[in-house]
Amino acid sequence: MKINKNYLNLKPSYLFKTIGERCADYKAKNPDADIISMGIGDVTLPLCRTAADAMVAAAKEMGNIDTFHGYPSSYGEDFLLSAISAHYKNHIGIDVKTSDIVVTCGAKEDVANILDIFDEDNTVLIPDPVYPVYLDTNIMAGRKIKFISANEENKNLPMPGENDAADIIYICSPNNPTGAAYTRSQLKTWVDFATENNAVILYDAAYEMFITDPDCPRSIFEIDGAEKCAIEFCSFSKTAGFTGVRCGYTVVPSELTFDGVSLLDLWKRRQSTKSNGVSYVVQRAAAAAFSEQGYAEICSNIDYYRKNTANMMATFDELGLTYYGGCNSPYIWLKCPKGMKSWDFFDVMLERCNVIGTPGSGFGEMGEGFFRLSGFGDNDRCSAALERIKKVIPTL
Ligand code: PLP
Repeated sequence: MKINKNYLNLKPSYLFKTIGERCADYKAKNPDADIISMGIGDVTLPLCRTAADAMVAAAKEMGNIDTFHGYPSSYGEDFLLSAISAHYKNHIGIDVKTSDIVVTCGAKEDVANILDIFDEDNTVLIPDPVYPVYLDTNIMAGRKIKFISANEENKNLPMPGENDAADIIYICSPNNPTGAAYTRSQLKTWVDFATENNAVILYDAAYEMFITDPDCPRSIFEIDGAEKCAIEFCSFSKTAGFTGVRCGYTVVPSELTFDGVSLLDLWKRRQSTKSNGVSYVVQRAAAAAFSEQGYAEICSNIDYYRKNTANMMATFDELGLTYYGGCNSPYIWLKCPKGMKSWDFFDVMLERCNVIGTPGSGFGEMGEGFFRLSGFGDNDRCSAALERIKKVIPTL
């Protein structure tokens, strides 16, 4: 037996472990410290009432012989596929066929699993910094990886250049960690580039619900030609607080073919072979989140998180700090003051403010010198953290 040696090329994933260790050390020495986390990428509000009620009702159905459901469809139940298609129509303004949607357990799984349908010889293009899953899953597969830098010069929205030709292109918009969202014309440039290079775009729209700028598309399929070069990944995690429930969906247009082969067919074949679908109870909850009432409730939760990002932006403006994101995203990408490195600033924030954020260097080399703050927290705790930050920053 031989192991997959590519796994040995993975760098240890120490970011959140190290954060935990440093906090635990600090807390051991300062047991009374009231530490506020602004680093969390998980949601904190509970499921909206309509989704939670639908889950309870579905669980009751499962406990009754007349309404019990066995294995779900590998691609998603019709009621949820219709709710997702209606979401695209009613809130994003585009037509997405139910047959082009595949319901899954979440976007993390999907961005990883989709790689099954691509040859290992393909070259991938990955932004730096970015959600680490894209990089690690391709290292596991032994693919050749090229990076494209997101930096202050391009406002964290890298555009393709002549050296960026690749077979598989990752785009995450709004971006984790930088919070940057591509505009319509920028995405059109990427779609044209992918088309010219016979590449596929893997478009991660996990944070689409946070977009407020009408010039920033919520779906890659708002762009002409994307149906022939892109796959979209979406999630109920940040949209509807489903991080612990697990539900997402991919859209693979039927028009998307390479060498005459439909990627939708391959993806469905992959899913029906390796998955027995998403639980009925979860799918009922997801469909309820996209009902009229559910949608109003999830929008209100997102508005709650937006208060935190608005509060952070106002504070950082007042302090004269440089930051990116926040407007179309739950994340703020703060430039560490005084040229500090990410981990040095982490220590200052922990020790002097008792506030935790995420060092930008953990998301890629280009993240050095930045710090990710998230809006997924309690409004009052966020305000309290900002009051502490206001006192400490001017003293640095
Ligand atoms: N994509 C991005 C960019 C993310 O930041 C995350 C989670 O933090 C995910 C996907 C994972 O989504 P899910 O919870 O649906 O697996």
